[in-house]
Amino acid sequence: MTNTKPERIKCLIIGSGPAGYTAAIYAARADMKPVMYTGMEPGGQLTTTTEVDNFPGYPEGIDGPTMMVQLQKQAERFGTEVRIGMVTEVEFSKEVGGIHKACVDNKTWVEAETVIISTGATAKYLGLPSEQRLRGGGVSACAVCDGFFYKNQKVAIVGGGDTAAEEATYLANICEKVTMLVRKDEMRASKAMQHRVTSTKNIDLRYNTEVEEVLGEQVVEGLRMVNNETGEKEDIEITGLFIAIGHKPNTEIFKGELDMDDTGYLITKGKSTKTNIPGVFASGDVQDKEYRQAVTAAGTGCMAALDAERYLATVESEEEEKTEEVSA
Ligand code: NDP
Repeated sequence: MTNTKPERIKCLIIGSGPAGYTAAIYAARADMKPVMYTGMEPGGQLTTTTEVDNFPGYPEGIDGPTMMVQLQKQAERFGTEVRIGMVTEVEFSKEVGGIHKACVDNKTWVEAETVIISTGATAKYLGLPSEQRLRGGGVSACAVCDGFFYKNQKVAIVGGGDTAAEEATYLANICEKVTMLVRKDEMRASKAMQHRVTSTKNIDLRYNTEVEEVLGEQVVEGLRMVNNETGEKEDIEITGLFIAIGHKPNTEIFKGELDMDDTGYLITKGKSTKTNIPGVFASGDVQDKEYRQAVTAAGTGCMAALDAERYLATVESEEEEKTEEVSA
């Protein structure tokens, strides 16, 4: 700790994707004077997408980074303070009305009456140099976001879980052909999802198959596949490659502080955004492994701000009652 008297914030928002900004807009309008720390990737996952065509209200579509700049401006218009910084450690109070602490960039501690966590999740990639080079040039981790750009074209998808199965069938509706690469001799997806894949005619399902190289200089032109049992290689022509091998929620700093499931997603109570700690709320992909859309993240950001506002109102009225009892 380097600062002596930490700054006290009414509503601290960690993370700057659609969930964080929507929480900020609502919290600022409710006079909670939110302070947001953006994290390492200001704007979140949407800044890595090109065109966003499925967010309501943009009939012509909008590119991800522009949308995030607009969300930031909207949040700032009502008084949100957006700060570039990474929350690197937290200490949450277990008491109702307790003060939570967060350390920014490993040096400055701030105190907060409420905390909204919207740190998101990061899509996993294979890690091949050719894949990394062609990200944004035909390699995508979101079929629902980018599938439409490959209408009537040939694409491939990697993964054997529910996401890959769901996205393969989604792509099969739009694209001419979908080659699906599953690295084992079975899929991890539920039986129902597997059935959807195997009964879709234009999905070419390849077990024991991995990506050796994504082909193409500026854009994806093909895929070199390898059968991991026989070592046999095969090149196919594709224009899009979708990676659906899972996401990693950004919850490292909350380990030991907040309840999470066995894959690290934060657990919220019922339909609310409440975590197991009073005054700490979670919104967006950090608590949602199922829908993971900008619009659903924004929806839970709104919920988190409303939950935080109600929590503060309850704490304040309890404190008032105590003061009245003492003075009576
Ligand atoms: P999962 O972790 O369930 O599956 C990941 C898949 O990717 C596995 O088939 C895994 O293979 C494969 N994989 C991992 N790394 C590599 C690699 N380097 N190369 C090739 N393949 C790789 O992730 P999902 O995103 O599919 O699902 C996450 C959670 O969300 C699950 O609990 C799922 O049930 C849930 N979900 C539910 C949905 C629904 O109910 N509608 C929709 C979407 C998700 P392997 O099996 O060999 O490890």
